[in-house]
Parts: sequence; structure tokens; C-alpha cells
Amino acid sequence: MTFDSSAAFEAKSYQEDAPNGKEPTLGGKLREKAVWVDETKCIGCTYCGSVATNTFVMEPDLGRARAIRQDGDSTELIQEAIDTCPVDCIQWVNFEDLDDLRAKLEKQEFRSPGLPPWT
Ligand code: SF4
Repeated sequence: MTFDSSAAFEAKSYQEDAPNGKEPTLGGKLREKAVWVDETKCIGCTYCGSVATNTFVMEPDLGRARAIRQDGDSTELIQEAIDTCPVDCIQWVNFEDLDDLRAKLEKQEFRSPGLPPWT
């Protein structure tokens, strides 16, 4: 029995109805991917917020960077901010993954990177 692989290219995409990140309501007006800071790894150096000033802010209590919006800076500027991160904790992710990432982040117990461990 032979298998006709061309059928794979004629079948409807399983993601056809799924969000693709280009929907304005998902913030994907300017790009297909969302930017995300893995705050568990962030060391609070502030480089990203100095480069892409409309995208990253330092979370005031814990001193870690956070992406506060997805359409504040150009893709090139955000990529420049990503490239400056000394611990590679900024990533491009799927817009539809942001809610799960935020939920996981809320379960983390953080300490400010600037505080000594006995405080
Ligand atoms: Fe954190 Fe990286 Fe931004 Fe520095 S550049 S504040 S380590 S996310």
C-alpha cells in the first residue's frame, strides 16, 4: 500500500481557526509573536527597559523586568533589548501562551534580586 503524502498539503490546517497572533485584540497588529520576560531568571539589570522603553518596565517591588505591552516598540528595538539581556531571559512566545505563562509566574515566590537572603 502506498501513501500519498500530497494529501497533507490539501488538508485543512488544524490551526486555521486558532489565534495566530495577528489579531489586533491579541496585540499582534505589529508582529506574530509576543515578547515575554522570564522573571524567574531576570537579574534586574534594567538593560531591556533602557532599550525598549515602551515595552519593558522594572516591577517596583521585586526589581525584575516585565513586558507591559506588545505594541509599544518596533520588533527591531525589542530584539535589540533581547540581545542586551545578559541572562537571556527575554523570549518571543506565542500570544496564546501568555495567559499560561502569567499564571505560572503568579505561582512563583520571588525575592528582590537586590535584597540579601536574610531580609
Ligand atoms: Fe532582566 Fe534581562 Fe531586562 Fe536585565 S535585560 S532587566 S536581566 S530581562
